[in-house]
Amino acid sequence: MKKSVLITGAAGFLGSHLCDRFIEEGFRVIGMDNLITGDIRNIEHLFALKDFEFYHHDVTTFVHVPGKLDYILHFASPASPIDYLKIPIQTLKVGSLGTHNLLGLARVKNARILIASTSEVYGDPLVHPQSEDYYGNVSTIGPRGVYDEAKRFQESITMAYHRYHGLETRIARIFNTYGPRMRLNDGRVIPAFIGQVLRGENLTVFGDGSQTRSFCYVDDQIEGLYRLLMSDYVEPVNIGTPEEIAIIDFAKEIIKLTDANQKIIYKPLPQDDPLQRRPDITRAREILGWKPKVSREEGMRKTYEYFKSLSKEELFKSAHKDFSNHNR
Ligand code: UDP
Repeated sequence: MKKSVLITGAAGFLGSHLCDRFIEEGFRVIGMDNLITGDIRNIEHLFALKDFEFYHHDVTTFVHVPGKLDYILHFASPASPIDYLKIPIQTLKVGSLGTHNLLGLARVKNARILIASTSEVYGDPLVHPQSEDYYGNVSTIGPRGVYDEAKRFQESITMAYHRYHGLETRIARIFNTYGPRMRLNDGRVIPAFIGQVLRGENLTVFGDGSQTRSFCYVDDQIEGLYRLLMSDYVEPVNIGTPEEIAIIDFAKEIIKLTDANQKIIYKPLPQDDPLQRRPDITRAREILGWKPKVSREEGMRKTYEYFKSLSKEELFKSAHKDFSNHNR
């Protein structure tokens, strides 16, 4: 009998790639998404498969899935700064109430659960690079607090279910990841810059661009997550690429890669935007035998091809989804 996995946030960027991976591995995959930030087109190709099922459901309300479940991956959440600024309450709820519901489901089904945590638990880090034993520097009341604190709570409740109920849990701290199926208008730096190149606009660097990030290609990320789920390691594991670049240099790199002749313009740095971010992946290397393989050049080329293949309509669609009604 096939193993079954429930993937929440299945129509999102990482969720949809996880669905593909688990189908490839021969699992029965149940995808769940309320489609607030996800896009059904990311999983459309799976609908014809007999091993794929989709539930249009909001995990912040009671979650029911019939039959057996071996694994749960909780990937539902707005994940880009502009999204969680627009839907702060849903962001808090999916990380807290949603996680609670899924932990409850995992208990009932006797399933192992992996939760998607984030480098945002380190906030604007005072320790560099960030290893898992760093406790972070987060503003509880800042604009990013809704995401950061929900994810911190998520880690705490997950560990409580592990310690108190003996549930099999895994915690991935995901660093900036990119690739096909990112939402063109989600505000994150890679879709923002590539979208600007494709529309012939100037590239908007926030602040002076000296802030750094480290970008992981989606295939590497999915491999790390898969290995973590299958491991027996309970404490958080950073999954990301430890190659750091300043945003200004990244903008120049994208202009070069795409042969564009756009200029760079500067906009104010958003509040609490972390000044530096790079994962220490010693733990992932040692415990999972994992390290990223895809260079930024190769990953960015594939990502650029993906965005180029989108329709003009998509490219010029106004930046913003209608989020009204989602802040209850
Ligand atoms: N950024 C930028 N221009 C943009 C979008 C983002 O300079 O048009 C910067 C942003 O201020 C941050 C970095 O790029 O320092 C990464 O931002 P992103 O929204 O991708 O994710 P974050 O890592 O901040 O969660």
